[in-house]
Amino acid sequence: MSTLNCSDSSNLAQPLQIRHVTLRNRIVFGAHTSNMSDSGLPGKQHLGYYLERARGGAAMIVVEPMPVHATAVLTRGNFRHNDDAVIPGFRAITDACHAEGAVMIHQLYHVGQHGDFDNSYQPSWSPSGLPSYHDNEGSHQMTELEIEEIIVGFVDAAARAQHCGFDGVELFAAYNALIDQFWLAWSNRRTDNWGGSFENRMRFSSEIMRRIRDRVGDQFVIGLAVSVDEGVPAALQINELCEIVAWHDERRLMDYVTCGTGSYFSFDKIIPTFQQPGNLGVPYAERLQQVVQHAKVQAESHVRTAASAEAVVASGQADMVSIVRGQIADPYLASKALTGRADEIRECISCNQMCWGRRSRDYWISCLVNPSVGREFEWGGDTFQRSESARDVLVVGGGPAGLEAARVAAERGHRVTLVEAGSVLGGAFRLAGRQPHRSQITDLLSWYERELHRLDVAVRTNSTMHADDIAAANADVVVMATGSRPAGTGFQRGRPLVAELPGVDHANVWSIEDVLSQTATLGHHVVLLDETGDWRGGGTAWHLADKGHKVTIVTPHAMVGSALQRIAGDFELRSRLARMGVAWCTESALLMWTGTAAVVRSSLDGSEQTLAADALVLACTNVPNSAIVDELIALGEVGHEVHLVGDVVAARSAVHAIYEARALAMRI
Ligand code: SF4
Repeated sequence: MSTLNCSDSSNLAQPLQIRHVTLRNRIVFGAHTSNMSDSGLPGKQHLGYYLERARGGAAMIVVEPMPVHATAVLTRGNFRHNDDAVIPGFRAITDACHAEGAVMIHQLYHVGQHGDFDNSYQPSWSPSGLPSYHDNEGSHQMTELEIEEIIVGFVDAAARAQHCGFDGVELFAAYNALIDQFWLAWSNRRTDNWGGSFENRMRFSSEIMRRIRDRVGDQFVIGLAVSVDEGVPAALQINELCEIVAWHDERRLMDYVTCGTGSYFSFDKIIPTFQQPGNLGVPYAERLQQVVQHAKVQAESHVRTAASAEAVVASGQADMVSIVRGQIADPYLASKALTGRADEIRECISCNQMCWGRRSRDYWISCLVNPSVGREFEWGGDTFQRSESARDVLVVGGGPAGLEAARVAAERGHRVTLVEAGSVLGGAFRLAGRQPHRSQITDLLSWYERELHRLDVAVRTNSTMHADDIAAANADVVVMATGSRPAGTGFQRGRPLVAELPGVDHANVWSIEDVLSQTATLGHHVVLLDETGDWRGGGTAWHLADKGHKVTIVTPHAMVGSALQRIAGDFELRSRLARMGVAWCTESALLMWTGTAAVVRSSLDGSEQTLAADALVLACTNVPNSAIVDELIALGEVGHEVHLVGDVVAARSAVHAIYEARALAMRI
């Protein structure tokens, strides 16, 4: 939980002058791809998304990157490059956000050799024709005429941004994009004026900046987005970056610089999950702060909370801080932090589940803890409409579905009672928070507890309800959010005709819920069947290895953590598990548990092996905890304002639970 108090936000509250504009505070909603365009045009979805953050107090909003050329198109939701048709939509966004007090910047990009043919239908252009790290294609070495064409693309895009009402542009030179491909000697092997010496390698970026300035005049901000990927030889390192940024700063080519982490060579640090430390990019911003004389410096990358941002600005490590996921999770982060309501901020839990997890599959982004993201234009963002008539709402179950249903119903003015059978709120989500590095889940549950208290929700724990108790409560509306439970069968998708794993009834077979609630009695060597490829298996294996167990994972997937690829969390997990001595059998099925050993068959060649072990842990898909619903049906209650949300409908994750609960509570 953030511990920021009103008096703690004094540095964040200070205005900041950047060229001709004044930021009202130091909290920026930095550039990221929301992927929401409507046939390449900014529409209502974009407007709702950015306007909500402007209303929430963000001082500066950097609208997601605009490709500057046909070869720069990277995502399905990219805006149309080189097309004035985008102007009315952007004008609506900049006007609306300006009216709320935000400074508006537009990022411009070209990722050079790492393009995406599936979206651009163009070859990728690069300084020296080196292969893409995005896919397995080669790239085209630009001629000098083509370099000129790209520079013109940047300048035209900046001029168009000015027509759209933006206060400036931010040039993307991060993660090994086209600009930083020109900077680095290994990726710029040219022998003409654009390569070779340091000055020559700076020519591409400096030409773009100079010509933009000539075109747009003095009253326009030019920012520069850079990054460091420490220890990755192909990516920029901080010493070299300091030299480059100082060189541009001496020439006063940019007004601010923002420094992220990671690169296309190691994606896991670009949008860090909870596996990475907080404030990941701050040390690099601090180094840049020491070498610039003119430009303002922005810190970014896993600065999660307003309290962290305050500390960064207070210590002078950076002039301003970009908090992207924090303001996706709570669009009102800035205004709450600056008005003494920091403990009302719903913090991002660094899961990447619905932001990067959707963007990586080319959907528009949303948020696990805030399902209104992307629906602001139809759901009204984080401000819920009061109900015309207050009703008595009984919520049964205190997991994420029940908590969200109770909270939103209470926000809308209903009289809400939440009943939970366990001694604490949170359900299976609280157990997930016991996996290593996942205490942000527990922080989120604490936020729910504070909000329920603030909203006068009556909360009863240690209270098991039966159907007749529910009927006797005589509530106007009943929300059933009783969650799910382990199936206990060891069912594997790869063996659909085997309903129950032979040997699953041995006493030393446990669910991950047994493990995380510490009710399992495990010996030293544990075999873990990871059916789902997500945190259920991977996070529990990490938890067990952390506690000194020898763990062997059996999974049908080609790699451990396969479902975590979408959140860029799989490599870091595998790397940790490998360092902790965890072994795995991938593309394998579990044939039998003997009580002392697991019989495993390879799906590749059919070979079998026997793994001696002290216990078997099942990380399989749960089943709905629906006994009480069946009782209600028997009583004839379902259909009379009784609603089901979350895992009791179908066993899934907190994403589905919170989304369904909010959607329901907005209409009761
Ligand atoms: Fe944060 Fe997860 Fe929401 Fe992304 S989906 S903004 S990581 S809480």
